Amino acid sequence: MNRSYSDSATVISLKPLGENNQSVTLLTKSKGIVYATLYGGPKSRLRSLVSQWHSGTIFLYDNPEKNQIKISDFDVKNYHVSFGENLFKNYAASLACELAIKTRCAGSPENCWHLINGFLDGLELANEDQGHVGLIRFLWRFLAILGLQPEVHCCGHCGKSFLEPLLTPDSKTYYNIMENSFICADCFSQGNAGQNFVFSLELSALRYLTGITVLEPAEARKLKIDRQEYNQLKELVFFLIENAAGTKLNTIEIGVGIL
Ligand SMILES: [Zn+2]
Repeated sequence: MNRSYSDSATVISLKPLGENNQSVTLLTKSKGIVYATLYGGPKSRLRSLVSQWHSGTIFLYDNPEKNQIKISDFDVKNYHVSFGENLFKNYAASLACELAIKTRCAGSPENCWHLINGFLDGLELANEDQGHVGLIRFLWRFLAILGLQPEVHCCGHCGKSFLEPLLTPDSKTYYNIMENSFICADCFSQGNAGQNFVFSLELSALRYLTGITVLEPAEARKLKIDRQEYNQLKELVFFLIENAAGTKLNTIEIGVGIL
């Protein structure tokens, strides 16, 4: 039996284990979250490679008798050095990884890894403003791999397209939490506006979500939003992602003012 194998991985966190060793939480492409042991004191070569947010190819050794996975080597491809210098980036990366842990990689380790890895690499290159909008796009896409991204193309009640030119861009749409859908202003004013409607969203903000749903990431990055749209979208996606994860997310609770 071959107990040695390699995988694409990002180091999420490290915890001291005994005097010289570390317990390492990894996000991997094939197996999702993996807990592995790193042997060696602070001066070992491997210790400097296996640091938080480093990503690349990890070499692991699985020892079923000891119920332990050991890190043999790590070929680092991206160090994500800016995360250590920028509090927002650090929190945004932590939020992405907390989601992976709490949703068990959305049941799809490979999709989860591609999405998070792409987000972290983009975050490394982004300035803080770009990073904030990038976080909205990341959370929106994460909702899709969870299978819980609401429909944004048309009204959930009458089916009218939100992309219709007759709708003025300053029209509002309303998010219905029970149906996980948006409805148009007409349906909202006709219906009983009960407590199921937790958000109203400018149509222009909703159209941004439509854009990032259908466009390739490189094209989606070019779409612009103003401050008001950003604030609405942030409130919405933070709410949706906690709702989808089925739990409060510590990074959002602690990092409220930073994220
Ligand atoms: Zn409608």
